[in-house]
Amino acid sequence: VVGQNRLFKAHTSTVVDAVKNKATQPAVIADALTFDAYCQQGGYALYKQVLAGELDKSDIISTLKDASLRGLGGAGFPTGVKWDIVSKEKGPRFLAVNLDEGEPGTIKDGVYLAQNPHQFLEGMLIAAAVVGCETCYIYLRDEYPSQRELLQRELAKLTQLAAHLPAIHLRRGAGAYICGEESAMIESIEGKRGMPRLRPPFVASVGIFNRPTLVNNFETLYWVPELLKKGSAWFTSHGANGRVGLRSFSVSGRVNKPGVHLAPAGITIQTLIDEYCGGMQAGHEFYGYFPGGASGGILPATMNDIPLDFDTLQPYDCFIGSAAIIVFSNQDSAKALALNAMEFFKHESCGQCTPCSVGTDKACDLMREKQWDQPKLFDLADVMRDASICGLGQAAPNPMLSVIKHFPHEI
Ligand code: SF4
Repeated sequence: VVGQNRLFKAHTSTVVDAVKNKATQPAVIADALTFDAYCQQGGYALYKQVLAGELDKSDIISTLKDASLRGLGGAGFPTGVKWDIVSKEKGPRFLAVNLDEGEPGTIKDGVYLAQNPHQFLEGMLIAAAVVGCETCYIYLRDEYPSQRELLQRELAKLTQLAAHLPAIHLRRGAGAYICGEESAMIESIEGKRGMPRLRPPFVASVGIFNRPTLVNNFETLYWVPELLKKGSAWFTSHGANGRVGLRSFSVSGRVNKPGVHLAPAGITIQTLIDEYCGGMQAGHEFYGYFPGGASGGILPATMNDIPLDFDTLQPYDCFIGSAAIIVFSNQDSAKALALNAMEFFKHESCGQCTPCSVGTDKACDLMREKQWDQPKLFDLADVMRDASICGLGQAAPNPMLSVIKHFPHEI
């Protein structure tokens, strides 16, 4: 929770509503779709069909590939391809669900889980059956106590399915952002300190307890039953500006309606604000946005026509990640927000490698100066990007570099 709230609190008056909600959990349990209600709607029929061999496993993988479903935790790896790769590894295999959702601004997994836990659980069971995983680990962020209670309750009901179930372990994270990185999560699941592993080998071949492991984000699995029911064409029929599919945008900041907005992949920030978020708050003029949480860089409001999707933001040295969009206004400072992001990364660095642990600390010192020493910051960014072990250190300079590029008047 500390990590989640650090991004904005210290330097601006922008308190991200969605992030705030994360710390003050609503009583979600009463509103969730129950096991009985889910079954009445035809829930778990697909899973039973997979177990009975009525749905061909290779057809399921083909559907995921045809739908272009990608990892929605941020990395965007094609889901069908990943299932294919792990299913061909020698067993026993494990499945790990990444429900750590630690990226500042990201709330979609917690929201969907609170609404419909069984759509996710059926997706997980289908994944386990198709890929051949006898054991599933659900790694849930500790800051979701209501969702944990809900999951515990609903997991117990799965025995009523009277169908084969894999062993399912619900694991609590402990508040470390780095445990959202898949190999650090695996270390944590194994009972060790959560620190990223060097790769290769990749977790698809050497994962939990050195066994092949399918790691999927919660939301990726959440869409699986829907996609199999409605077909890949349903998913690909959505999209905007040449992009395909749907994205769950976690929008926070200076908009009238923050929250999770399901919108076409490729939508622009301007359309998202105007048509989904009820516009900017009174007295606030759109000034800039984080298109992908704290890690994905910062863009100015003048660049409001870029399609928001995987791969579309690379030319601007940004990325969409888990689609956490943080909107800020003329009452905020991009420089202050970038410093706050860097302080977040410094706080969350696991300390394993010097470019990240020392680099984030040094960058914070330099970014606290009234005028930024740009040559030094560029040098530091090069070292951090080239030599950090994992994405945290590699992406940490992004907001800082964005400010140098797009908000030079502030520094
Ligand atoms: Fe740890 Fe940072 Fe190195 Fe990643 S880059 S392994 S978080 S010290």
